Amino acid sequence: MNHDPHCIFCKIVAGQIPSKKVYEDDDLLAFHDINPWAPVHILIVPKRHITSMADVTMDDQALLGRMLALSPRLMRELGVGNGYRHVINTGADGGQEVMHLHLHVFGGPRPWKKG
Ligand code: AMP
Ligand code: ZN
Repeated sequence: MNHDPHCIFCKIVAGQIPSKKVYEDDDLLAFHDINPWAPVHILIVPKRHITSMADVTMDDQALLGRMLALSPRLMRELGVGNGYRHVINTGADGGQEVMHLHLHVFGGPRPWKKG
């Protein structure tokens, strides 16, 4: 499934729910987390609906690589110059709340609210 009409991040990708966009191309969207843990907290998501890392296959390696490789550029553009942290939560025990694959990137001066 490319688009899940009940998925909040698919709705953000489709522009049906507003977001504070950081970056967009044909395959990826990055936006600020609505409930940030750190001074800078963005989410990088594939536009295609992938439920979680548990659904990723080797066919997705380029997409996953692009999500990670995009993050340094975005953090630089957002003025984060002293390091940052990546998190991907998978499934219930992994603490995943939104069932559309997303890469959290946290940065900015500590202390942070969480993480
Ligand atoms: P996770 O626990 O990894 O599934 O994280 C889901 C993240 O999505 C949380 O950090 C939420 O704050 C964030 N989130 C939920 N709804 C929105 C939204 N409408 N816009 C931006 N971020 C959101
Ligand atoms: Zn989705």
